Amino acid sequence: MEQLDPMPEDWTRALAIAAHPDDLEYGAAGAVARWTAVGKDVRYLMVTRGEAGIDGITPAECAPLREAEERAGADLVGVEIVEFLDHRDGVIEYGVPLRRDLAAAIRRHQPELVITGNYHDSWPGGGWNTPDHRHVGRAVLDAVADAGNRWIFPELTEAGLQPWNGVRYVAVGGSPQPTHAVDITGTLDRAVASLEAHRAYLEGLGEHPMASARGFLEFLADQVAPSFGGRRATAFQLLRT
Ligand SMILES: [Zn+2]
Repeated sequence: MEQLDPMPEDWTRALAIAAHPDDLEYGAAGAVARWTAVGKDVRYLMVTRGEAGIDGITPAECAPLREAEERAGADLVGVEIVEFLDHRDGVIEYGVPLRRDLAAAIRRHQPELVITGNYHDSWPGGGWNTPDHRHVGRAVLDAVADAGNRWIFPELTEAGLQPWNGVRYVAVGGSPQPTHAVDITGTLDRAVASLEAHRAYLEGLGEHPMASARGFLEFLADQVAPSFGGRRATAFQLLRT
């Protein structure tokens, strides 16, 4: 079977950008745990608070609950900085306001690696992706270029956010076109704990296979293993900028 390449690790700071609390925990967090354990600085940015994610809980009650769960999950994989934008869950619009918000965050955090979620129409296996994930992933890829251009959002420069051209890689998790992987054999337990921190969300899933943090993350890691020397791993589609 064709093998995935190991993810480059010649970087010191990463910004992981997701549409919702829980997105990073379904796969990427195992890699994040490995990276923070060797001293890398990884930060999270959520475009929404995931307030439309639990059927039995109103958005007003849900937003602070999910924010707290995300902060707890991040802490378990060594992430201390977690930020939230105020886009509305479920109806994130691809457009200039989203690109501007993301470019501002990239300028503020100055990452060399940007991690984001699947921007493709479908998931590996063929299931239809959601508009929030597509829009955020595509806007992240665009905002990496915007962040480096002084003239696209001059209001950001006026606000003191200087252009940042230092992003070298964008890693897309959950992509149907993976190119690279990270061995998570040693961090799978921490990844499971990080996802289990989303207690209210997982309870809300009921009998769904994704409600079992360990079962689902082991399933994902075992799917990647044959393409990565038999090692349990999490896969990314790597784009060089
Ligand atoms: Zn999501």
